[in-house]
Amino acid sequence: MSNHIEPRPTTSNHVLKIAIQKSGRLSEKSLQLLRDCGIKVSSGNRKLKTVASNFPLEVLFLRDDDIPQYVERGVADVGILGENEMLERGRPVELVQRLGFAGCRMSLAVPRGVQYPGLDYFRDKTVATSYPNVLKNYFDERGLNTEIEEIGGSVEIAPGIGLAEGIFDIVSTGSTLISNGLKEVEVVLRSEAVLISTQNLVAEKQELLDRILFRLAAVREAGNNKYVLMNAPNDAVQRIIDFLPGMRSPTVLPLAQEGWSSVHTVIGEDDFWEHIDELKRLGAEGILVAPIEKMIL
Ligand code: ATP
Ligand code: MG
Repeated sequence: MSNHIEPRPTTSNHVLKIAIQKSGRLSEKSLQLLRDCGIKVSSGNRKLKTVASNFPLEVLFLRDDDIPQYVERGVADVGILGENEMLERGRPVELVQRLGFAGCRMSLAVPRGVQYPGLDYFRDKTVATSYPNVLKNYFDERGLNTEIEEIGGSVEIAPGIGLAEGIFDIVSTGSTLISNGLKEVEVVLRSEAVLISTQNLVAEKQELLDRILFRLAAVREAGNNKYVLMNAPNDAVQRIIDFLPGMRSPTVLPLAQEGWSSVHTVIGEDDFWEHIDELKRLGAEGILVAPIEKMIL
């Protein structure tokens, strides 16, 4: 008998366990998200799990299909996966936050040559997919009797080989559909990466999650804003201040050159160019724009 003892899952309430995809489209971005929050995680050789060196966080590397189940059972407290996969698994977990990456849509597609009269096309037909539950809900809600043929992958070839009259699959650019002689006819769902958590997280773990969410918000806020510095003649400064949105009041510092000041502020990405044009008109010169790494409001 071997006396090798498998490490037991951590049971401490003072460590948060997060499940992320082991290898695939979400893996790198999920790790990057943790790093952006200042949490040091070695992706190393992608063992089953690893521990962050500067935050009480344990990272489990899993197949994305399994993440909802692990989170439901509390083997992992939280997880990152595609919303589409979360809906497909239908496990009772909490959607904590949409994360803004791995965007895609899930669509119905049919052979390019067929006449598509609308959803009725699918009545009494067969659709191939790897996401049978999402699709079944969609057809059920619309009272359509459609046969769903579940296959593991390469769904796009199903119509060509006579397995189905349509497919339901993830689409990002649509080029896979086109190269398989298909056309997208209905968008069923829009998805992105999401952070999910187990229901009724214990208070200590909720506190750790809140710390991560706080950092995430700071990173997101920083990405939406720019730090802007400009020089202006003193008689233009008040007009510039009146115009600037800023977090609070902008910083105004005298320049070495008599009669000139430097004005510093934060401007949102959305209306950035309009602001810059107006600032120039108001007399600002030498405008510098710098990225912001973190922003705590
Ligand atoms: P695993 O081995 O973990 O089960 P997988 O093959 O199921 O991986 P990936 O192909 O890595 O999964 O995709 C993971 C998620 O990425 C999808 O569930 C979806 O939410 C998202 N995604 C975004 N764009 C695309 C795309 N073009 N094709 C597939 N998935 C995409
Ligand atoms: Mg998968």
